[in-house]
Amino acid sequence: MTQVVTIDTADTAKSEKLFERAQKVIPGGVNSPVRALKAVGANPIFMQRGDGAWLYDVDGNAYVDYIGSWGPMILGHRNPRVLESLEETLINGTSFGTPSPGEVELAELITTLMPSIEMVRLVNSGTEATMSATRLARAYTKRDLIIKFDGCYHGHFDSFLVKAGSGLATNSIASSPGVPEELIKLTLSLPYNDLASVEKAFKEHKDKIAAVIVEPIAANCGLILPDEKFLSGLRDLTSKHGALLIFDEVITGFRVALGGAQAKYKIKADLTCLGKIIGGGLPVGAYGGKKEIMELVAPVGQVYQAGTLSGNPLATAAGLAQLRSLIAPNAYEILEQKTKRLSDGLTELIKKAKLSAHIVYTTGMLCLFFHKGEITDFEATQKCDTEKFANLWKALIKKGIYWPPSQFETAFISLEHGKAEIEQTLAAFEESFNHLKD
Ligand SMILES: *Cc1c(COP(=O)(O)O)cnc(C)c1O
Repeated sequence: MTQVVTIDTADTAKSEKLFERAQKVIPGGVNSPVRALKAVGANPIFMQRGDGAWLYDVDGNAYVDYIGSWGPMILGHRNPRVLESLEETLINGTSFGTPSPGEVELAELITTLMPSIEMVRLVNSGTEATMSATRLARAYTKRDLIIKFDGCYHGHFDSFLVKAGSGLATNSIASSPGVPEELIKLTLSLPYNDLASVEKAFKEHKDKIAAVIVEPIAANCGLILPDEKFLSGLRDLTSKHGALLIFDEVITGFRVALGGAQAKYKIKADLTCLGKIIGGGLPVGAYGGKKEIMELVAPVGQVYQAGTLSGNPLATAAGLAQLRSLIAPNAYEILEQKTKRLSDGLTELIKKAKLSAHIVYTTGMLCLFFHKGEITDFEATQKCDTEKFANLWKALIKKGIYWPPSQFETAFISLEHGKAEIEQTLAAFEESFNHLKD
């Protein structure tokens, strides 16, 4: 039997102390809201170290890591090849503000692995990538409207902090104060997997839609897989109406397949946004696509976009080492098998415990929804039992499983999640399920 370790809350004294200090000088004590663990009613756990599939907190507790820094750590923590590449680069300095060889190599590798990307510009985050791609799409089409989908996250850029009510653009409301009404009117948020509403929007806003931006697999509201015809339908509709198709592959790029979701579903986007995995754990983003479009970017064209640290040598070194490791034969088959093993195990435990829950998974990502029916759009996710999820999370953390701290976040599996980790995880879930009443 796999042993399940129980962590006492008294064992997190150092985290609690750091949190007290942090709250005085950082809003909410965190530099990104999800880290606060508010959705599960817990206090943040401060990590000291990662190794393989494991995280170690400042109090010395060990956890099997299912957030993987929210996507980048597909090879696990402290991957030797990534560390070595970083060490070799660090010796020469940290930033020059001039071009450096790693940028060319990373751009060449990305364009080779993702054929729809003929040219690519490196930035510092996924948010910068989607923001820049949107500006570029507007400049290229000379149109202003953008279609996004409910529940898809494209970073914290103003234009994307939108939840549309019914009635398309007319009822658009911002999901954050501080976002100007005028800007929000230019973003239409439609239900995911609903081609008819996209068709309707194109009819209503003839020749005004610059682009449709989509997470080809929606991984920021739990995990929602695209219907068979959804992505190809978006491809057809955008082509027909002279709009661009932007794939936000900041999560899916190099996670679900070597060529991202566009390889998995065989769709060519006009522009693609990348981040997370391509930085190997350092801050990186990228946007790229057809040469004809990318050549509008300064200094070739007039669309301004710049960055003091863009293409940073350390970031490109880590990204290159990570991507080169992923070219290894069978990497994605292995990742798929690991994810399936966890999915099958959890599905069986859910049945055994007679819970109203089910698993959605794809290569390297998995979500447990406390919801009976199928999840095909954001609206369905909103009916999940978030209280039950919070209880499950609190039980799991005490057993050394760092599950994503929200019903609306997906779990990330790395190539370092071995048999032992998965067995320990399943044992912890089994015990935790026993305490959840349906
Ligand atoms: C994380 C994420 C972003 C934003 O990336 P940051 O590096 O956090 O700015 C954009 N799009 C998707 C799909 C993401 O998951």
